[in-house]
Amino acid sequence: MRAVVYDAPGSFTVRDVPLPEPGAGEVRVRMTAAGMCGTDLHLHEGQFLASFPLTPGHETVGVIDALGDGVVADGTGSPLQVGQQVVINPNSSCRRCAYCRESRPWLCELFAGIGSSTPGGFAECVIVPQEQVFDASGIPLELAVFAEPSACIAHLMDRLDPLTGCSVVVLGAGPTGVLLTQFLRMRGAAAVVLADPNAYKLDRARSLADISTHVVDRGDVRGTVQRLRGEQGFDVVIDATGRVDVIAELPELARNGGRIVYYGVADESSRVSISPFEIFRRELTIMGSFTEVDSFPDALDAFRSGAIRTEGIITHRYPIDAYAEALQAMRTDSSAHKIVITPQD
Ligand SMILES: [Zn+2]
Ligand SMILES: [Zn+2]
Repeated sequence: MRAVVYDAPGSFTVRDVPLPEPGAGEVRVRMTAAGMCGTDLHLHEGQFLASFPLTPGHETVGVIDALGDGVVADGTGSPLQVGQQVVINPNSSCRRCAYCRESRPWLCELFAGIGSSTPGGFAECVIVPQEQVFDASGIPLELAVFAEPSACIAHLMDRLDPLTGCSVVVLGAGPTGVLLTQFLRMRGAAAVVLADPNAYKLDRARSLADISTHVVDRGDVRGTVQRLRGEQGFDVVIDATGRVDVIAELPELARNGGRIVYYGVADESSRVSISPFEIFRRELTIMGSFTEVDSFPDALDAFRSGAIRTEGIITHRYPIDAYAEALQAMRTDSSAHKIVITPQD
């Protein structure tokens, strides 16, 4: 089968590798689509827990191609059969360390990811333990491919609970920002502002936003804060860019007692200057939210409820042999929103 294979950071080829066979309790999934995201750029550089050789691809949807011995059910106990559409939770924990025993598996010391520590979805097929496969029958591909980023967002929503009545600003209208605003509204946030400098992304976001979501140009954020909140900022301020210049501005957008969330993936070497006095005096909380282990059922429930819309977010599709072009578009094409690899093309 064809697969993207990195031998070292920055160095990959698309080549033929043996078709993997599912072992006991494992499922082979034939990839229909695998989304690219900022994490893949970090993996390209060898960051973000990358272990080599590596086939990336962690936002995946496909069809069951073969079942290993003893496979009976997916991560929610639903029966699995060949030909069924599924999404794959790439994340797993050791179930034994102190964090796992505290029921906080996303903090696991031996956290593992399909597409970062084991072969992922930028390949024709992937091998997955049955408990990390989730039935996605009937969910349109354009939505199903967002299951992993949505599950990570569902985890963030749990961390921010309760959100009822909160005002929230999200900086960065990439696919994650657009999904975030919808989950925030679904979880009860009263007013949500989504800001970005990219006119194309703003346009897409506006077409999907509800009446209580204000989509604004990045340059208008302070004006919007004034208009909506007066002298007070927002209860929750979320960075979905990972950019240092954006992250540095978060405290001034928060109201006293507010929560600041680092959600975008910053470069490992980047640093931000903050005022400890301001954090102290205004009782601000700074928190991170990394990933998920057990939030796929929440994401799929949200999809099936009709509350999450993604029309028009996928802008670019590439066959696996054009992976280099996809990476290039990810870095330089300002009209690229969600880029998807389609391994069967
Ligand atoms: Zn991702
Ligand atoms: Zn663990």
